[in-house]
Amino acid sequence: MAEGASASPHAGFQVDLKGQVALVTGASRGIGRSIAVRLASCGATVVGVARSFEGLQATLQAIQDAGGTAEGFAANVADSTEVKRIVDEVEAKYQRISVLVNNAGITRDGLMLRMEDDAWQEVIDTNLKGTFLFSRAVGIIMMRARYGRIINISSVAGLVGNPGQANYAASKAGVIGFSKTVARELAARGITVNVIAPGFITTDMTDVLPDKIKTEVKERIPLRRFGTPDDIAGLVCYLASPGASYLTGQVIAVDGGLTV
Ligand code: NAP
Repeated sequence: MAEGASASPHAGFQVDLKGQVALVTGASRGIGRSIAVRLASCGATVVGVARSFEGLQATLQAIQDAGGTAEGFAANVADSTEVKRIVDEVEAKYQRISVLVNNAGITRDGLMLRMEDDAWQEVIDTNLKGTFLFSRAVGIIMMRARYGRIINISSVAGLVGNPGQANYAASKAGVIGFSKTVARELAARGITVNVIAPGFITTDMTDVLPDKIKTEVKERIPLRRFGTPDDIAGLVCYLASPGASYLTGQVIAVDGGLTV
C-alpha cells in the first residue's frame, strides 16, 4: 500500500463489540476520529468527546453514514466538573460504559530551559490529568459491572524522550506509570488497562513538522513511513474486545520499529 494510504475501517481484524458503549476522548479528528469510527464499525455505541463541536459533528456523521450509533460532547478533558457531567449523563442513558479510550492530547513544544509555566501545565493537564479524570469517573462504573477495557494513548516520546518535548514526554511517561498502577488496582474486577505508544502518525499534530524533519524522521523508522490513524485504531479494537481479557498493564509501541 502507498505511503499515507489508510486501510478501510472494515479491513483486517474485526471484533464484535455489539452492545458495548465506548467513550473516546479527542474524537474530533486524527487518531481519535479513526478510533471512534472503527469501534462503531465493530458494533459499539460510541460517545466522542472533544472541545470542537464541528469536529465532533464530522466524526458522528461518518459513523452514522456507515450505519453506526454515536453521540458527542464538547468539553475539556482537564475539567473535572465537565468530565463528571458527561460520564453521569452517559451512564444514565446507557447504564454502562464498557470501553474507555483516553486519546485527547496536545503538544506545546519548546526547549526545557525556555519553557513557560503555562506550556508545561496545559500539556500535563490535557494529556495526564484528563486521562486520570476520565479513568476515575468511568472506572467506578466498570467496577460495578465487573468488566471494562481502558486504553490510554501515550507516545514513544514517553518511552524514550524527545528533545523539545519535555512537557509532552513527561505527560506521556506519566500516562504509562498511571496505567500500570490502575491495571493492578482494577484487575480483580475484570478491568484491563493498556497503553498504546504511537510513533509518528499522519495527523494535524505531525503535519506542522517541517518537511526536512519529516524526511529525517522517516529515515530513522525501520518501516520507512509514518503510520496512519487506522494503524492505531485496529489495535484499540482488539484491546477493547472481550478476547483481550488476559492482556493488562502493557505498553505497545505502534511505531514502525522506531523504538526497536
Ligand atoms: P490531533 O489530530 O491534534 O487531535 C487531538 C485530539 O485531542 C483532537 O480531537 C482534539 O480535539 C482533542 N483535544 C485536545 N485537547 C483537548 C482537551 N483539552 N479536551 C478535549 N479534547 C481535546 O492529534 P492526534 O495526532 O490525533 O493525537 C491523538 C493522540 O495520540 C494524542 O494523545 C497524541 O499525543 C497521541 N500521539 C500522536 C502521535 C502522532 O504522531 N500523531 C504520536 C504519538 C502519540 P479539540 O481540538 O476539538 O478539542
